[in-house]
Amino acid sequence: MDKIVALCKRRGFIFQSSEIYGGLASTYDYGHYGVLLKSNVKAQWWRAVVQERDDMVALDAAILMHPRTWEASGHLEGFTDPLVQCLGDCKRRWREDHLREAAEAEGRAGEELRCPVCGGELSEPRNFNLMFETHMGPVQEEGSRVFLRPETAQGIFVNFKNVLQFARKRPPFGIAQVGKAFRNEITPGNFIFRTREFEQMEIEFFVAPAEAREWHERWMEERMRWYTELGLRPDHLQLREHGADELSHYSSATSDIEYLFPMGWSELEGIANRGDFDLSQHAQHSGEKLEYVDSGSGERYVPHVIEPSAGADRATLAFMVDAYDEEEVEGRQRVVLRLHPRLAPVKVAVLPLVNKDGQPERARAVYEALRGRMPAEYDAGGSIGKRYRRQDEIGTPWGVTIDHQTMENGTVTLRDRDSLEQSRLAIAEVGAELERRLAAPWSSPKLAG
Ligand code: ATP
Repeated sequence: MDKIVALCKRRGFIFQSSEIYGGLASTYDYGHYGVLLKSNVKAQWWRAVVQERDDMVALDAAILMHPRTWEASGHLEGFTDPLVQCLGDCKRRWREDHLREAAEAEGRAGEELRCPVCGGELSEPRNFNLMFETHMGPVQEEGSRVFLRPETAQGIFVNFKNVLQFARKRPPFGIAQVGKAFRNEITPGNFIFRTREFEQMEIEFFVAPAEAREWHERWMEERMRWYTELGLRPDHLQLREHGADELSHYSSATSDIEYLFPMGWSELEGIANRGDFDLSQHAQHSGEKLEYVDSGSGERYVPHVIEPSAGADRATLAFMVDAYDEEEVEGRQRVVLRLHPRLAPVKVAVLPLVNKDGQPERARAVYEALRGRMPAEYDAGGSIGKRYRRQDEIGTPWGVTIDHQTMENGTVTLRDRDSLEQSRLAIAEVGAELERRLAAPWSSPKLAG
C-alpha cells in the first residue's frame, strides 16, 4: 500500500486533503490523473449498468434529504458501529466487530478481546451513530437538524414513485446513482479504502417478490463479471456471503465481493437483498403508497429490492493495486500501472524522439489530431526513457514516437506499455488502430506471469 500511496503522490493522482495545514485525517483530494481514473471507473459503471441495458434509469438525488428519511430507513436508530476504547496505555478506539472478526480469523474466537496495539483492556462496546449532522438555516435547533446522507440508496427509494410514473418502467427495473456519501467512521484508514467522505455507485433493482432470489444471484454474477472484464485478476476476487449475525438491519441476504487488498481480503461491493423493507418503511412514514400496480391484470405488490452497492474510491484503489507492477527492463527498474486501457487516465502519449529537426511540430500535430478521439498527452520534456517511465507509471497503454524516419516517410512507432513491443505504422492509421485496441477484450498481463 505504501508504494501505491507514494505513486499517487509522485504522479499527482491523490493528495492528502488540506495538506498545507498539516492535512485532515483520512480525507483525500484527487489530482489530475486521479480524477481521470476515477471518472473512467464511474463511466464504465454507467456504461455497464445503464447504457448496455434497457431495464435501468439514472438518478442524481440531493445529498441533503428530509430528516424523516433517516427515521424511516432505520439509520437514526440502527446505523451504528460498536465502539470500544482501549483502557490501557494507548487509548485507541476500535470497532469491536472488526476485532472479533480478526480474532476469529486467527483462531482466537471466544477469547477476551484486547487492544491490538498495547494489549490493554477494552471498554464495554457503545453503539456509535455514523451519520454526520449539520443544520439547515441560521438557527441551530432540533427542528433544523439534517444529515449528510450515509448512502445514496435512500435518494433512490424516495424517488421510486417519480421514476415509476415518468420512466415508463415496470419491474424488473432498476435505478442507478453515483454520488457522495458521508460516514463518521470510527476507524478510517488504508488510504482511500475507508474514508469519511466517499463516492458510491449504487443500484436499487425492483423485482416481483417471487423473483428476488434469482435476481440476487444474477446481480452477483453480473457485478463479478464487471470487475474481471475491467482487468481485476479473478484469483484476487471472491464472493463472501454474510453470516446471520453480520446482516444489516434491512437485509435478508447479503454477499460481498471482496478483493485481496494489501491488508487482506476486504469488501469492494455489497450485494444485498433488501426485501420490501425500504419501500414499506417509506410508505408507512410518508403516507404515500409505494407499490407497483399492473395496469393489465390489476395485480399489486410492493417490489423487493436487490442492491449492488459499490464504492467508486474503493474500486479505483483496487484497480490501481491490481495494476501495480515493477520489473527490470534492460537492467533498469520500471514501475508500471497495467491498467485496463479503458480505465487508463491517458490512452496515448505522443513523443518527439528529439527536440529538434521539426519533430516537436510534427508530434504536436499528431497529438492534436488524436486528442479529439481519446485522451492523449504530448510530452517533449526530458530523455525519451524518462518520458516512457512517466507514462508507464500513470498507466498509459500506448506511446507514439516521432523520429527521423517519420520526417522521411510519415510513419511512427507505436509502443505497447505491457509487452514493450514496437510496431511501425503510418500516421493516418494510428487513430483507428488505437480505437480498435481500446475496444478489444483485455486481460491483465500479470495473469501470465
Ligand atoms: P465496511 O464494512 O467496509 O464499513 P459497509 O458494509 O458498511 O462497509 P456498505 O454500507 O455495504 O459498506 O457500502 C457499500 C459500499 O460503499 C462498500 O462496499 C464500499 O465500497 C463503499 N464504502 C462504504 N463505506 C466506505 C468508506 N468509509 N469509505 C470508502 N468506501 C466506502
